[in-house]
Amino acid sequence: TFLDDGTVVYQAQRTYPPVRQLSPGKRERILVTGGAGFVGSHLVDRLMWMGHEVIVLDNFFTGSKRNVQHWIGHPHFELVSHDVVDPFMIEVSQIYHLACPASPPHYQYNPTKTVKTSVMGTINMLGLAKRTKARFLLTSTSEVYGDPEEHPQKETYWGHVNPIGPRACYDEGKRIAETLTYSYMRQNDVDVRVARIFNTFGPRMSPADGRVVSNFIMQAIRGEPLTIYGNGDQTRSFQYIHDLVDGLILLMNKPYTEPVNLGNTEEYTIKEFAESIRDKVDAKVPIKLLPAAMDDPKKRKPDITRAKRYLNWQPRFSVRQGLQETIDWFKLQAAEGAI
Ligand code: NAD
Ligand code: UDP
Repeated sequence: TFLDDGTVVYQAQRTYPPVRQLSPGKRERILVTGGAGFVGSHLVDRLMWMGHEVIVLDNFFTGSKRNVQHWIGHPHFELVSHDVVDPFMIEVSQIYHLACPASPPHYQYNPTKTVKTSVMGTINMLGLAKRTKARFLLTSTSEVYGDPEEHPQKETYWGHVNPIGPRACYDEGKRIAETLTYSYMRQNDVDVRVARIFNTFGPRMSPADGRVVSNFIMQAIRGEPLTIYGNGDQTRSFQYIHDLVDGLILLMNKPYTEPVNLGNTEEYTIKEFAESIRDKVDAKVPIKLLPAAMDDPKKRKPDITRAKRYLNWQPRFSVRQGLQETIDWFKLQAAEGAI
C-alpha cells in the first residue's frame, strides 16, 4: 500500500485455497479455454488443487473473473483475457477447450459469433496442440444428437439436427468442432479426447444465463412463477458439476480417443423438475406455461456404458443432493446481494 507521504507498507501475503505439492516432473502446464465460466472454473479449481499449473483463456462473454478470483496472484495460475477466434501462442502439455457460450439465449444472441467460436476457436486450439504436442480435449455436447430418434443416446448415434434452425449455430458448431478434432488426429497425429456433455448444473451457474436450473431456482427464490417452455413433457437428464469434472479429468488422462458421453441417467420431465425445485425451495409459486422453444429436443438421456467401461466413471451425486447444494449456493448469493 502506498501512503500519502510516499512510504510503502508491505502487507502479509494473501492466502489461497490449499493445493497439493506435485514434483515438477508430475506437474502439467494446462490451458483451460473458457476457464472463467461455470464448468471451466470448477475444472480449474480441481486442477489447481491437484497441484498443476493452469492458464485460463477467456473473453468474459458469459464467464466472469469472479469465478476464478480466488486464484488470481497464485504462482501456479494465470488469467489471460483473449478471444479464441484469434490465434494464441503458449507452451502447454494439455488443453481443455471449453470456450463457447452454452445456454440457448447466449449462443443465439450472436449466432455467427457462436459458429466462429466453435470453428475458428477450435482450429486455433488444435493448431496449438499440434505445435506443442499437447493433448487436446474438446467439450462437445449432447446437442450433437439434436432432437434424438434414439433413446437413450449412445455415442454411435449420428444425431438428428436441424442445420438451419435457431439452435444450429451451437449444435452444428460443435459437430464441426468434433470433425476438426478427428481431422487433426488423423492428419496431424494430435492426441485428442472428446467429451459429449449432457445438461450440467451447480453453483456458479450465471443466474441470468437462461438455462432451466438457474431460471427455476431464481424464480422460486424471488417468488415468481416458474416458466415452462411448452407443456413440460420434454425430458432432460441433469448431472451435478463435480461429477462432470471427475469425468473430464479421467477422460483427459486415459488413452481413449473416441467420443464419451458424460451425464447422469436420472431423467425428468421439465414439469417434474419444476415441481421438485419448487418443493425444495419451499416456494408457493405457480407454474406458468409459455410457448415452446423452436427445435427444443423432446427427450434426452445418456447411455454411459462407454464412460463406465473405459473411464471407470459414473455419477457420484444424486440430482437431489446436487440440487440442494445448488439451491443453498443461490440463496447465499442472493442474501449477500451478489446476484
Ligand atoms: P459458460 O457460458 O458458463 O462458459 C463458457 C466460457 O467460455 C465463458 O467463460 C465464456 O466467457 C467463454 N467464451 C465464450 N466464447 C469465447 C471466446 N470466443 N473466446 C474465449 N472465451 C469464450 O458455459 P459452461 O456451461 O461452463 O460450458 C462450458 C463448455 O461446456 C462449453 O463448451 C459448452 O458447450 C460445454 N457444455 C456445457 C454443458 C452444460 O450443461 N453446462 C452441456 C454441454 C456442453
Ligand atoms: N426450459 C423451460 N423453462 C425455462 C428454461 C428452459 O421450460 O425457463 C426448458 C427448455 O425449453 C428445455 C429444457 O428446459 O426443454 C432445458 O433447457 P436448457 O436451456 O437448460 O438446456 P437445453 O437442454 O435446452 O440446452
